[in-house]
Amino acid sequence: MTRMTSLPDGTSVPVLGQGTWEIGDNPAAADAEQAALSRGLDLGLTLIDTAELYGNGKSEQLVGEVIRDRRDEVFLVSKVRPENAGEMSMMLACERSLERLGVDRLDLYLLHWESRHPMDEIIAGFEELVDEGLILRWGVSNLDIKAMNVLERIDGAEHCQTNQVLYNLGSRGVEFDLLPWAQERNMPLMAYSPLGRGDLLNHPVLIEVADRHDATPAQIALAAVMRQPGVIAIPKASTVAHVEANAAALEITLDEEDMAALDRAFLPPTSAQPLDII
Ligand code: NAP
Repeated sequence: MTRMTSLPDGTSVPVLGQGTWEIGDNPAAADAEQAALSRGLDLGLTLIDTAELYGNGKSEQLVGEVIRDRRDEVFLVSKVRPENAGEMSMMLACERSLERLGVDRLDLYLLHWESRHPMDEIIAGFEELVDEGLILRWGVSNLDIKAMNVLERIDGAEHCQTNQVLYNLGSRGVEFDLLPWAQERNMPLMAYSPLGRGDLLNHPVLIEVADRHDATPAQIALAAVMRQPGVIAIPKASTVAHVEANAAALEITLDEEDMAALDRAFLPPTSAQPLDII
């Protein structure tokens, strides 16, 4: 059963979506990847995260194939490369993404990471895309708390819907400041690489907690991130089996004993840390 959270503008979105970095890169894997994303949609993982960067547009193209007859089911997120976020370039970049995706508009468009273009110009660019109907809303990615505090003071920043950041058990720095900051503002954080790109999954404590739940380490890693209010996790899975396992993680509730074990193995932050970025 899908769980939902709300964006600042009131739009309801699932707390578990689907990432697509490296999806579409290998033509031989395309059928399996499309089947995985489609199965995810069937299971309510209707938020799909992509970016013009991924495979230089190949990820957007593959997502476009998957959603061709299912556009209305999907909350579609893409990202603009920072160098394309200037006054003249953002609309063109967005139009190219729409073309590859085969859609008229994005549900959410994110600045992929901080840009040399000034933030007020970027916000004006996003707002113009909203006015033109190319996107419904916008947000940011990889901005630390200092950058979010600067952003917040710019006209129009009240329309920012999310900050997509690295967050998983092996990288918990956001729990100290950025996550509470976002929670106070009812702005979900979108947790990217929630499985640590797969690197977390052989950890003995994760295996031990998984065994207690008759679950897999990946499911526990996702449940740990999604237990926080206002977090949307976007794991990437390229097989149907992985997507089905990820969807089933929504049913897992970690108890105090589980969290104590995880906290001993993956220390929560006790002071401010630089934002981890991949
Ligand atoms: P991730 O989701 O943490 O991990 C993906 C890895 O986990 C893949 O090797 C995948 O294998 C494996 N996996 C998935 N489900 C599994 C399961 N149930 N059991 C075992 N293994 C499983 O890594 P990610 O792709 O870096 O992050 C997720 C998404 O976040 C990206 O795809 C992208 O959309 C977004 N992202 C954004 C940024 C940014 O700068 N904004 C940066 C990084 C990522 P298979 O592929 O074989 O299924």
